[in-house]
Amino acid sequence: MKIYKFGGASVRNAEGVRNLTNIVSQSGDDIVVVVSAMGKTTNALERVAEALWNNDINKAESEWRDVLSYHVDIIRDLNLSLAIENWVSWEQLKAYVRTDYDELYDQVVSCGEIISTHIISAYLNAKGIDNSWLYIPDVLRTDATFRDAKVDMADTQSLLREQVIGKRVVVTQGFLGGTKDGRRTTLGREGSDYTAAILGNLLDAESVTIWKDVPGILNADPRLMDNTVLIPELTYYDAVELSYSGAQIIHPKTIRPLENKQIPLYVRPFGDITAKGSVIHATTAHPIDVPVYIWRKNQILITVRPKDFAFVLEESLTHIFDIIERNHLKVSLIQSSAVTISVCVDNTRYVAQALQQLAEDFRVTYNENLSLLTIRGTSPEILEQESRNRTILLRQLTRRTARLVIQNVDN
Ligand code: ASP
Ligand code: MG
Repeated sequence: MKIYKFGGASVRNAEGVRNLTNIVSQSGDDIVVVVSAMGKTTNALERVAEALWNNDINKAESEWRDVLSYHVDIIRDLNLSLAIENWVSWEQLKAYVRTDYDELYDQVVSCGEIISTHIISAYLNAKGIDNSWLYIPDVLRTDATFRDAKVDMADTQSLLREQVIGKRVVVTQGFLGGTKDGRRTTLGREGSDYTAAILGNLLDAESVTIWKDVPGILNADPRLMDNTVLIPELTYYDAVELSYSGAQIIHPKTIRPLENKQIPLYVRPFGDITAKGSVIHATTAHPIDVPVYIWRKNQILITVRPKDFAFVLEESLTHIFDIIERNHLKVSLIQSSAVTISVCVDNTRYVAQALQQLAEDFRVTYNENLSLLTIRGTSPEILEQESRNRTILLRQLTRRTARLVIQNVDN
């Protein structure tokens, strides 16, 4: 059994769906096909959720119609005849407005994956590839932490195996889960990779492959840098470090379930089935020998100081991190002195509330619009070059890795 995961960019149009079909048809193994929402659908659905929540029904409805018509075009391009209304109900979504925001968000945003998998499953069938469409909220059991749901691996395992084992091709949604009482949850943005890893783990897959619109794992984001090179082989450890630093190759949570069972993860180019891409596994004979540049954008640097000069590391750490944790802040860097602690976090909608709670007991200052640049395999020359003409608010340096918190970069 193998797991194939296809991201939104890979299935953003009919051409992508045809290509997916080609890849699936060439696999001789049993496979579970994990699919994201098509193209930028998740972003569009976020706008729907936001408008619904603000009671701007007209805006919500017009955004929703745009989402539908984008998919209708793809369905038509594929010569299928399918009714999206059979899979998702606008009336039902509107009914969620009275629940909490995160729950509403998950009900709306999850529609992207429901729609994409239905279309893909139907197209595979039309091309003679028999497959089962699996509604993953029924088997991927999570708690009710909407937008960041925690997976119950034990419950999921038995439910999943029952649905999957013995089937040749299963098509299912990435990113989604479901609570025991049948409410849909999501695992956090870009969570489909994580889904693929969970399925790989629980099904003892031979491998997991992420098909992407890049040649494999590169040493920098080609949209931000010229002359990038492919890294053919990485260890799980490398991959965790890179994805945690913000490399958008794979979701940071992806590695752990695979490492636990020593399942290799392939990152392969969607457009070229003959290319090998990159493999992530336990050890490699070829350590990474090029500098790797990773940008993590939209950061905020929060500095916290006890009001009475208490030693922050001794007396306040637990309290500070409790607030960070409760507000789901994702910490990308920590630095401390005798009486201050600074944390760099992703600037999400929860930050304001966390700042407020911190301010109750501490003096708090912060800087917004920052980027965190991590350079692995750095050198004095590289550091000098990357620092030039930039305002660096904070710098952390180890022998091999440099981390720079930079103001207002717009590359
Ligand atoms: N469609 C979701 C997102 O864009 C999940 C994913 O693509 O992995 O965040
Ligand atoms: Mg996506």
